[in-house]
Amino acid sequence: MNGTGALPTGALPSAVEPEPITYLVDLSGRDQHLVGVRMRIPADAIADGGRLTIATWTPGSYVVRDYVHHLQRISASDAMGAALTLTPDGLSAWLLPAVDNDVTVELEWYAYEASVRTNHVDDRHALLVGAATFPCLEGARSRAHHVHLTGVAHDHEVASLLPGEGPGPYVADDHEHLVDAAFEVGVLRSSSVDVHGVEHRIVWSGHGDGVDVRGLTDDLGRIAHAATALFGGELPATRFTVLAVDGEGGGLEHRDGCVVAFPPHASTDPERRRRLQGLLAHEHFHLWNVRRLVPVDLLAPPLDRPVLTTSLWIAEGWTSYYDRLLPARAGLWRVSELLAALDRLREAVDGMPGALLQSLHDASRTAWTKHYRRDENSPNAGTDYYAHGALVAFTLDLRLRTLAPHGDGLDDVLRDLWRRHGPDASGQPRGYTEQDVLDALERAGGADVAQLAVMLTTVPGVPDPTPDLSVLGLREVVDPSDDAPRLGVLAGTDGGRIVLRTVLRGGSAWDAGVSGGDVLLAIDGETLTPDELPTVLRRHGAESTVTVTLQRGPRLIERAVRLMPAQPRRRLRIDADADVTARARFSRWAGQAAAD
Ligand SMILES: [Zn+2]
Repeated sequence: MNGTGALPTGALPSAVEPEPITYLVDLSGRDQHLVGVRMRIPADAIADGGRLTIATWTPGSYVVRDYVHHLQRISASDAMGAALTLTPDGLSAWLLPAVDNDVTVELEWYAYEASVRTNHVDDRHALLVGAATFPCLEGARSRAHHVHLTGVAHDHEVASLLPGEGPGPYVADDHEHLVDAAFEVGVLRSSSVDVHGVEHRIVWSGHGDGVDVRGLTDDLGRIAHAATALFGGELPATRFTVLAVDGEGGGLEHRDGCVVAFPPHASTDPERRRRLQGLLAHEHFHLWNVRRLVPVDLLAPPLDRPVLTTSLWIAEGWTSYYDRLLPARAGLWRVSELLAALDRLREAVDGMPGALLQSLHDASRTAWTKHYRRDENSPNAGTDYYAHGALVAFTLDLRLRTLAPHGDGLDDVLRDLWRRHGPDASGQPRGYTEQDVLDALERAGGADVAQLAVMLTTVPGVPDPTPDLSVLGLREVVDPSDDAPRLGVLAGTDGGRIVLRTVLRGGSAWDAGVSGGDVLLAIDGETLTPDELPTVLRRHGAESTVTVTLQRGPRLIERAVRLMPAQPRRRLRIDADADVTARARFSRWAGQAAAD
């Protein structure tokens, strides 16, 4: 913070509303990736002193990030400019003395971590996320919090998930609302579409003109219509804003929108466009599932410590199932593309040894130490509550539709949960427990389906949707694979070298003592490039034993590995013999008629 800019006083306090906490965000240090925050605390909020905290994690991303790591300095002063003592109280908190007039706290952040969950500021743009930017005065959480911006480049605009425009104020109802918001500043391209009276807007600040913002907004509108139909025709927000930045991919849901990252040309490549549509469907579905239909453990969670829940298989897993179904229901994906997306889901879980080791409940509870702390052994050590949870959702959906053929399967369960555990009359989420979900499953399909859910979430193992495929007129075919024989590794490339990112537990390379992180240099004495690997493996053939030469740190080592045959491919297909009833059920499920 360089001290420029007048300190705004925010909106005038009304007779009943306490004066808001106000933040002035200064972006004039953007070339150095510095962000100043001047927080003004009204006298009545600090009369007895207070505790100032900085979040250690952000809702929706279950890992301790210790945002304080990026704090450069912090100081406090009273209305006369006299310095106040900030007494550290742990790593991310300070005690403020009692003061009989307004207090200003000044912070300086270093902001150069590019992701949808962290601040990234440079000459071109600024992405600011609430949890990483705005400290909280305990005891004043429930007040309104206002944000103003200064030091914005003359050709830059501001977009926020909070209501407001230009330099501000941007108004959050309370501190929880503030840390659940984000700001994007830069040369913005935006487009919006109306869905049932609710503005849906995509704002792109990434570089390049190649992004089809208009087209993506139309996609979002169609997805939003499909999602709204599922939940009974009403959107639970007054607006939905997507702040889009360039990056490798990913998204983070917020109360009234999301932050997503994707490469600039992803929108014009058909396959990547489908992935983007899935991402938009995923984040939009969170408007209901997670943001307003909330596991009780995650209701108003404390942000200074991890919060454990077993329900991420619903919060993220079911969302990952519907992020495949909704683009089909929206007419953006053909049936074949929907079935291929479900095939990939199955393949991902089948190929993950950790799915046989860890239950979904445990994967959810340990998200903090496993899912978000990935290493070369992660696919062996645990399962993925996204893909695995989505496959459970598909399995339960099919079973429900089998047991109650006139119902709408998991759609009915979601509507039931939404009615009973969504927001109350005042708009506050009521929260749900695992038992509430089991009860809803039982109401929709009987005790057996609830029991199936218990088994699929508490016992490690890969769910099998095949016994109930016929209810939708689907069948599974198992095609022999024409893939090359396998070493039993997940390989990547790095500078033209073959890096064995993961050695799959129980596979040939694992048994031979190959390690994740080893670099594959040669097979049977012949060096090879990443492109040549499949050809070389094919030449040797399944069941043959090859000598692999590996680099492990400074060492060269050799191991004898017996090649495994390629996995047969399991594929969902439309059953040509399915009757008209199954065809009708398929149309309700996929939102379009069955066709290959
Ligand atoms: Zn999600």
